[in-house]
Amino acid sequence: MSGRLYVISGPSGAGKSTIIHHVMKEIPDLGYSVSHTTRQPRENEVDGQDYHFVDKQTFQRMIREGDFLEWAQVYDDLYGTSLSGLHRRLDMNMDVILDVDVQGAGNVRRKFEDAVLTFLLPPSLEVLEKRLRNRATESENAFRNRTEKALLEIRESRDYDYIVFNDELRDGVKRVVSIILAERCRSRLLFPKAVEIFRIP
Ligand code: ADP
Ligand code: 5GP
Repeated sequence: MSGRLYVISGPSGAGKSTIIHHVMKEIPDLGYSVSHTTRQPRENEVDGQDYHFVDKQTFQRMIREGDFLEWAQVYDDLYGTSLSGLHRRLDMNMDVILDVDVQGAGNVRRKFEDAVLTFLLPPSLEVLEKRLRNRATESENAFRNRTEKALLEIRESRDYDYIVFNDELRDGVKRVVSIILAERCRSRLLFPKAVEIFRIP
């Protein structure tokens, strides 16, 4: 038996990493696969907690050595989910949550058929823009890249298992937690050994 992958995707600024950090507090036995990226850290971002920030050579070496479950160029930077740690957690029957863009979600699904794909939807494009502006001082180019890609990504949301509306943070977190707990119940019911635990003598 192996743990399961819970993929949180959606436009940049939708609230993926914020939601993931809150969900981790609610479900402490969930592992978090922190992505690698070549982009520069923003103010307040912590290496190893928000991302593993690496240079291009390191990232390219990891690609050559087959260290990634998936990777993608997003805007002008590289982002990827490293395999080290991921399989160890899954083999220990630990569920793992990860943050990827829409292309990454498709790639994860191809390798892990039973991955649960959740799309985080911002309440509107105006709110998304406000969140992006409040989050960090980024170049106008970086901001435009993110808002332009958002519309394309929202069109892809129909291919996901779940769409979560992230209006109020408290509600967004609750919705993601419910998805994970409901999926855990469902897989237990399909797994005979777990059913045995509940068998009436
Ligand atoms: P992503 O990981 O999807 O790029 P972030 O988690 O960095 O997005 O969130 C973008 C910004 O929006 C952050 O400043 C975060 O604090 C804020 N944010 C996230 N979710 C909400 C929410 N439900 N309500 C208000 N602000 C939010
Ligand atoms: P940001 O720079 O705003 O933190 O992230 C930019 C985009 O990269 C977001 O859409 C985010 O979901 C995506 N992303 C973050 N980590 C990964 C990853 O490991 N793989 C892929 N494919 N995309 C990622």
